[in-house]
Amino acid sequence: MEIFDVAIVGGGPAGSSCAAFCALAGLRALVLEREKFPREKVCGDCLNPSCWSVLEHLGVAQQVRALPHSKLESVEFIGIDGHQVIVDLPNGEQCEISVKRCLFDDVLLKRACDVGAQIREETTVTSLANNGNWKIETATGESFSAQVLVGADGRNSTVARLCNLLPHPTRERVALQAHVPLPQNFGRRIVLQFLPQGYSGQAPVNDAELNLCLVGTPPTISELRQWAQRHFQIAPDQSWRTITPLTRSPVPCGHENVLFVGDAARVVEPFTGEGIYYALRSGELAAAAISKIVRGEDRHSVLRAFTDACAEMYRGRLWINRLARAAVLWPRVGSMFVRAAQIQPTILKLLTAKVVSREL
Ligand SMILES: Cc1cc2nc3c(=O)[nH]c(=O)nc-3n(C[C@H](O)[C@H](O)[C@H](O)COP(=O)(O)OP(=O)(O)OC[C@H]3O[C@@H](n4cnc5c(N)ncnc54)[C@H](O)[C@@H]3O)c2cc1C
Repeated sequence: MEIFDVAIVGGGPAGSSCAAFCALAGLRALVLEREKFPREKVCGDCLNPSCWSVLEHLGVAQQVRALPHSKLESVEFIGIDGHQVIVDLPNGEQCEISVKRCLFDDVLLKRACDVGAQIREETTVTSLANNGNWKIETATGESFSAQVLVGADGRNSTVARLCNLLPHPTRERVALQAHVPLPQNFGRRIVLQFLPQGYSGQAPVNDAELNLCLVGTPPTISELRQWAQRHFQIAPDQSWRTITPLTRSPVPCGHENVLFVGDAARVVEPFTGEGIYYALRSGELAAAAISKIVRGEDRHSVLRAFTDACAEMYRGRLWINRLARAAVLWPRVGSMFVRAAQIQPTILKLLTAKVVSREL
């Protein structure tokens, strides 16, 4: 049986980024992905401007710009009482865009394939064993062998669960997402709207469709769906994608010979729209570490450096996540913040600038 240098479980942005960078470094990389691409995914579909640097390194920035998308010019915060504050987003080549995940993720996975990674779709990892190398078994009874394993399989990571590292799930909130017809004159804005039962995120993804996300608790989510049906005149039989949990303790990203990237390592608050950036960048950092491990550098110091690089990636930003989480867990408090920002918008502008810029 062929022994791969690295097997990556999950072909989302984290897994594809890791696989492409590993293949570009000359490693034999394998991606095992449960779904058949292109596939949709519960997400607000917004690409934080920080993504562009990783997309450039991957050589796909122009391809992403060529996909149907919307250039987002502003973010509009709406309180429960209807008060609004609009904050401008950066413009130019490195602006925030929204693009459907079925298109974006497909470009990334194809890039990994084009630069030499082996991709196995419709392949669900179900069991793992380690006796020097990893033996990875799938639902279809196939097995694969690899020196290093990467968990890039999202917030409910099977790899973390099979390694007894997955934190106990908290089912405190649930998200619903759908693409619905774009209301006339919606404009090129992201709307973040507090509602008594939770919040809604809205962004146009092309000239015809709106990405609509609803975040609530299990008891309130159906009320939120009814609000959306009224507000956007959505047919009652509209299908919604769903995901939970929205908050989860992190999994330490570097272990003996398994690394975690993207949501599998750390789930961030969707309200800030940064998850895809962390997925892409942690994939890049993991690939650099794996390259060193495979070439025989001291594993412990490589993993320590990888863990430090991941911590650096989040440094100075997690407090914004905590703030955003507080605002969405208590929407009335979030609404008070919007009201205060009407009088004094500086703080909200600075917070938004911090989220959409790596420089601050
Ligand atoms: C409501 C909501 C809105 C969001 N909005 C935004 C936003 O606007 N902008 C943003 O940047 N982020 C947003 N995020 C976060 C973003 O979606 C994630 O951070 C991002 O998808 C993480 O990428 P990933 O590659 O780590 O995981 P994923 O994209 O989840 O990919 C994991 C892959 O692993 C595969 N997989 C899972 N289990 C197995 C298995 N056992 N075997 C094989 N394959 C497996 C899955 O099929 C999937 O393709 C949002 C999240 C939520 C919940």
